[in-house]
Amino acid sequence: MRKDRNKILPASGVSTRSIHAGHDNTRDPHQPLITPVYQTASYAFDEVAGLWAYYDKKSDRLAEYARYGTPTQRALEETLMSLESAEDCIVMSSGMNAIATAICGLLGQGDHMVSLREGYRGTFKLFDQHLARFGIGISYSGVSLEAIQAACTEKTKLIFVEVPTNPYLRLVDIEALVKFARGRGIYTLVDATFASPMNFNALRQGADLVTHSLTKFLNGHNDVIAGAVLGSKELIEKARSFRNLFGSNPDPHQCYLISRGIKSFGVRMREHNRSALEIARFLEKQPQIEKVWYPLLESHPDHALAKKTLAGGGGIVSFQVKGKDGSQSAGLKASTQVVEALKLATIGASLGGVESLVHQPSVMSYADMDADARLKEGIYDNLIRFSVGLEDTADLIADLQQALATL
Ligand SMILES: *Cc1c(COP(=O)(O)O)cnc(C)c1O
Repeated sequence: MRKDRNKILPASGVSTRSIHAGHDNTRDPHQPLITPVYQTASYAFDEVAGLWAYYDKKSDRLAEYARYGTPTQRALEETLMSLESAEDCIVMSSGMNAIATAICGLLGQGDHMVSLREGYRGTFKLFDQHLARFGIGISYSGVSLEAIQAACTEKTKLIFVEVPTNPYLRLVDIEALVKFARGRGIYTLVDATFASPMNFNALRQGADLVTHSLTKFLNGHNDVIAGAVLGSKELIEKARSFRNLFGSNPDPHQCYLISRGIKSFGVRMREHNRSALEIARFLEKQPQIEKVWYPLLESHPDHALAKKTLAGGGGIVSFQVKGKDGSQSAGLKASTQVVEALKLATIGASLGGVESLVHQPSVMSYADMDADARLKEGIYDNLIRFSVGLEDTADLIADLQQALATL
């Protein structure tokens, strides 16, 4: 009798699932402990009947061609399914691709969707520059449930939200949102990249689909771009068909690296949560700081909801520094000075990895807008987004302290 490593999983914790789920290699005669990189473009069949059995779903073959999947890719998908308690999962070559594929699987010409206007900038660019071009109507709303409801029309088929949002880490009450959406026959799609499966499970709260940028906390090593969509078999099948025909699968080596990164996801995420909270509390006490945005701080507008729904505050802390006066330009000067004075945290566009990265939304994600347009989007020029890496918290605090002291 061989041990089935998947059998121990349903009741186990995040680390146990991250390490074992999906990696049942007992059918391989060599029984590798680690799922290998299946570097192949095609699969061999001894006779035509084998192909017919595969097409009729009467064989346990995964695919006949690698655009439809590889065992390395499927192992990663099964790990993620376990982490999110999802019936099915597809992984993609990026987080953006995951969002695009989820939406293209569900919506078509003439359909309407509602999205928060606070979130990852690339997502809004995708909606405005491309989905709109294909006849999908998009309305944006504020983060309150009332605002989302007010933005819905007769044609609304989908509501898209980030949990928590970039960059102010705002929260929508997903349980209440789902209740409203279900009653109207509207799908809910949650981008839970910032929360990660450690801190929040949108599907358990009733959301229809959840996406992750695996590039961030799940892979966690700032070295791979990838994404995932998770949900029911029925909805994932629609997205899978789109992915397989668009050919947006990640390659097996990419999947292997992410599976390797995920093995330490539980330990890493607990430390991101702990260190970020300590840093948020430190920042809040500094005289050069105007405001700190972190869901588990009492001063955050969604603190009560965060306490109720999040298992941890996550690894991102956003904060505004004080400029010489209250103007946008003075704010930009001050935030630039702090960002450039940091020695440990690197200026960079990503987040969720072991290296701390610091990001200035005004000159990075929103660099194409002028100061007034940015302000209309709610982006203050004195804002800094800090992705708390796994360096020692004391070192990160010392670095922030010396950078703030230059103001
Ligand atoms: C990074 C990110 C994305 C896009 O993911 P990529 O892997 O870079 O394509 C989408 N949503 C959020 C919240 C992100 O942080």
